[in-house]
Amino acid sequence: MNVYDSNRIIDVLKGSEYFPTDSPEKATLILINTCHIREKAAEKLYSDLGRYHVYKQKRKRNGEDSIIAVAGCVGQAEGEQVFSRAPFVDIVVGPQSYHELPSLLDRAISQNRRGFRETRELAIQFPKEKKFDYLPKVRANGFSAFVTIQEGCDKFCTFCVVPYTRGAEYSRPFHEVLEEANTLVSQGVREITLLGQNVNAYHGHQKNGSVNSIKLAGLLRELHKIKDLEVIRYTTSHPRDMTDDLIIAHGELEKLAPFLHLPVQSGSDRILKKMNRKHTISEYLDVVDKLVKARPELKLSSDFIVGFPSETDTDFADTLKLVNDLDIIQAYSFKFSARPGTPASLDLDQVPEEKKTERLKELQELIGKKQIKFNNSCIGSRLSVLLDRPGRKKGQLSGRTPYMQAAHVDASGEYLGKFVELKVTEAYRNSLGGVVEKSIKEKEKLFQEGEVI
Ligand code: SAH
Ligand code: SF4
Repeated sequence: MNVYDSNRIIDVLKGSEYFPTDSPEKATLILINTCHIREKAAEKLYSDLGRYHVYKQKRKRNGEDSIIAVAGCVGQAEGEQVFSRAPFVDIVVGPQSYHELPSLLDRAISQNRRGFRETRELAIQFPKEKKFDYLPKVRANGFSAFVTIQEGCDKFCTFCVVPYTRGAEYSRPFHEVLEEANTLVSQGVREITLLGQNVNAYHGHQKNGSVNSIKLAGLLRELHKIKDLEVIRYTTSHPRDMTDDLIIAHGELEKLAPFLHLPVQSGSDRILKKMNRKHTISEYLDVVDKLVKARPELKLSSDFIVGFPSETDTDFADTLKLVNDLDIIQAYSFKFSARPGTPASLDLDQVPEEKKTERLKELQELIGKKQIKFNNSCIGSRLSVLLDRPGRKKGQLSGRTPYMQAAHVDASGEYLGKFVELKVTEAYRNSLGGVVEKSIKEKEKLFQEGEVI
C-alpha cells in the first residue's frame, strides 16, 4: 500500500514545480513515506533523516531551498514528536491528508524563505472529506497496477497500530473503483491488484448517497468483465471476512489468480484469542478447505508473528505444525514488536528478545523449505506470466507467475507488456527462471488458425 501511496503522492505533486529525481542531494523536496507497523520500520526513518539533513544543510549554505517532509503512518502516530526528534523536518503529513500537500508545501517554502518558522506544517487529523475525492485521476505506469479499494481497520487486533494510524474502515465507492480500473486498462494495464488493510471487508456504495453496498465478490465479478484485464489479485485479507460468496467467486472467476495471501499470525488458539483475531485455527482451516474445494489449484501465503506476549514453546510448536500442514508456498514472519498505544504492548508477559530471534529463525527455515519445494515442483511446468519490467540482467524481462513468484526470463524487449507462456527451467528460493515458449497471443492465433499445439 505504501508503494501505491507513494505513487499517488507523486501524482499530487505532478503539474507543480516538482518532478522525481534519483539524486536526493540535489532535491528541492525530500519526502519520506513511512510505515509504523513494526518498530524497525519506524526507526529507519530517523537514520534516513540524519542523512538527508546533511544534504539540506549543504543546500542552505549554497542559498538553495529544500524541504524535508515525513509522510505516512510514522508521521500520523508520532506527529509533533517527529519535529522534536528531527527539528529540521518541515512537514509531517498523515496517510489521510496527502491531498493537502500542495498547500503544506507552499506554506513551508514561504516560511523558510522568510528565514523563520511561525508554525510547523502538521497534517495528521482524519479530515472529513475523503482524500480520494481530491487526489488527481490515476495514470497507468506500466502494465500492472495497484488500486486501493479499502483503507483502515475496525478489527483492533491487540498487537496492531493500523486502526490508530489508518483510522476507521472505509471502502471507496464501487463506481469509483470500476472507473479507475477501466481507466488503467484503457491505458495498457493488464493485471490489477486490489489493495486494502482488510481488503475483503470491502463494501463500497453503488452510488454516492445510496445505502446499498457491493461486497468484494461483487466487485471482482464486475472487474472480471473488463475485456483486456487479464489477471486480478487482492491483498490483504482477514480470515473472518472470507465469506462464502467470495469463496465461490474463486471457483468461478478464472482471471482471479490462484493465489491468496491469508494471514493467520499463529497456530495456537490461545494466542489467537489474546491477539483478538476473532477466529480459531479450525475455523481458519475450514476456510482454506472451502477455498481449495472451489479452486483446487489455489495456493496460500500467510503472515506469522512469533513471540507474542506469553507465547510458550508449545504455542510456537503449534505454529510450526500449522505451517507444516498448510499448503503454504511463501509467508512473511515477524518478531512481535510492541507498538505504542496497542494493548499487547502493555502486556507484562513479554517474550525475551533472544527467544523471539530463535523462534523466528526456526520458522523462517521451515517456510524457506516449503517455498523451495514448491518452486522446484514448478520446474518443467508452463506458467502464464505478464512480462512487465526489465529483468535483473541485460536481455532479461521479469514478471510474476500466477502464484506471485518472481520470474526472470531471457526475452527481447518486444515481449515487454505481453503475457507469455513461461517454461520453467530453474528454481531458487525467491524466484524462477525459464524460457518463453510463445507469447499467449501468438498461441491463441495459431489455435484459431487450426494449428495443433
Ligand atoms: N490486515 C492484515 C494485516 C496487516 S499488517 C491482517 O489482519 O492479517 C501486516 C502484518 O504485519 C500482519 O499480518 C502481522 O503479521 C504483522 N504485524 C502487524 N503488527 C505487528 C506487530 N506489532 N509486531 C509484529 N508484526 C506485526
Ligand atoms: Fe491490524 Fe489486520 Fe488486525 Fe486490522 S485486522 S487490526 S489491520 S492485523
